[in-house]
Amino acid sequence: MDFLPIFLNLRQRPCAVIGGGEVASRKISLLLDAGAQVTVYAPELADTIRRWASDGKIRHVAREFRPEMLEGCVLVIAATDDRAVNQQVSETARARGIPVNVVDQPDLCTFIMPSIVDRSPVIVAVSTGGRSPVLARLIRARLETLIPAGYGRLARLVASFRDKVKKRFAHSSRRRQFWEEVLQSRVAELVYSGQEEAAEKALQQRLDAIDGSQPPVGEVYLVGGGPGDPDLLTFRALHLMQQADVVVYDRLVSPAVLNLIRRDAERIYAGKERDNHAIPQEDINHLLVRLAKEGKRVVRLKGGDPFIFGRGGEEIDTLAAEGVPFQVVPGITAAAGCAAYAGIPLTHRDYAQSVVFVTGHLQDGTVNLNWKALVQPDQTVVFYMGLHGIETICRELMRHGMPPTTLAALVQQGTTRNQRVLTADLATLPGIVEKAQVKAPTLIIVGDVVQLHERLRWFEPTAAN
Ligand code: SAH
Repeated sequence: MDFLPIFLNLRQRPCAVIGGGEVASRKISLLLDAGAQVTVYAPELADTIRRWASDGKIRHVAREFRPEMLEGCVLVIAATDDRAVNQQVSETARARGIPVNVVDQPDLCTFIMPSIVDRSPVIVAVSTGGRSPVLARLIRARLETLIPAGYGRLARLVASFRDKVKKRFAHSSRRRQFWEEVLQSRVAELVYSGQEEAAEKALQQRLDAIDGSQPPVGEVYLVGGGPGDPDLLTFRALHLMQQADVVVYDRLVSPAVLNLIRRDAERIYAGKERDNHAIPQEDINHLLVRLAKEGKRVVRLKGGDPFIFGRGGEEIDTLAAEGVPFQVVPGITAAAGCAAYAGIPLTHRDYAQSVVFVTGHLQDGTVNLNWKALVQPDQTVVFYMGLHGIETICRELMRHGMPPTTLAALVQQGTTRNQRVLTADLATLPGIVEKAQVKAPTLIIVGDVVQLHERLRWFEPTAAN
């Protein structure tokens, strides 16, 4: 983060604006909206500012800038078209520890002003760190259409009930659940349609109908986080991640996906590296039960799909046995994600009529698979966790009759900006893994469909950093 977003209380606080043109007038207007006491220092004033001055909304001093003008100010904005003056304002303010913004000169600013969507008291601020004000404005325009004008009124209704609701609920998480329900209920709809009295009544009724002393009821959501690209999350996954009290996540969940978890949710890393389980599976199962019984809404976030080599079944089995309510949210499994982003259709009328997903994980040092079933004509075989056993896999496939010239693809960190795709035939694949230093997570796709990669590849990320 280049800048820390904060919201400043400027009510009745003295602020200085140096410059009196059109640009200055836009900034002054914002300061006035925030209730600041504005003094404008400029020899000349644009019409709007002059009107504010004669209406007594601002104070005007018709002088060139001098350092003592900043005496006692809590915030300064320089909006002159003279770079030397702007520079001087910036230096003076900085020397005195006063936050300063110089319009269009980010290098002279100690704070920048975001694009805002104003649904007071709800304010959404957007910044590109001064890099592209146009992009910030485009984002703002989109948000304008997304956020109903009624949100401001809704926030005011919530504020008027805050104390009452606080008193009613013994547990803060129950209180939060109550508000989450209210804000997505008929109460909100009534506010949006301008029926504020009816909304107030409906909210009171809801509150009256609730026994706030009851402990909260927890629940576990077993959620598929997809293969890496956060855009591949389902809406439901995102929604639950935004509401969770606790998120228990695996190593496979990408940082970009983790970034979408509600900021103040507790995060618990449950690990799972080959042979290096951060928390043993048994303990994870019981952890979920315990958290839910404490009344928390727990998201158990897994890479890909929770029911495909994710041990999701075992985790909810314990929940079911303990009577803890749960839901399962599917995710895009690595095979689907990697195949799509590598341009390798898993089935194709000319090359493969079936596809099998298998695990190449070595339970006890051996890969115990039904090799005969895997070595079938017109079939694509996808190996999860196959990297470690790659030599055995290739050898056994060939031993059971798969031609050594059969193509295979390695997709490392599929769908992410670090995606790497390497293709080879069965005979040379293990050597490639070693030579190219292929690392987990990597998916192995074996079959004639792999030849389509050359023609259908489309996702060529330039790696981050
Ligand atoms: N439940 C997960 C799979 C867990 S097993 C799913 O549905 O995708 C872990 C294996 O999945 C890894 O060893 C690797 O083979 C594969 N995998 C998961 N994400 C991947 C990714 N982004 N790129 C390549 N392989 C991936």
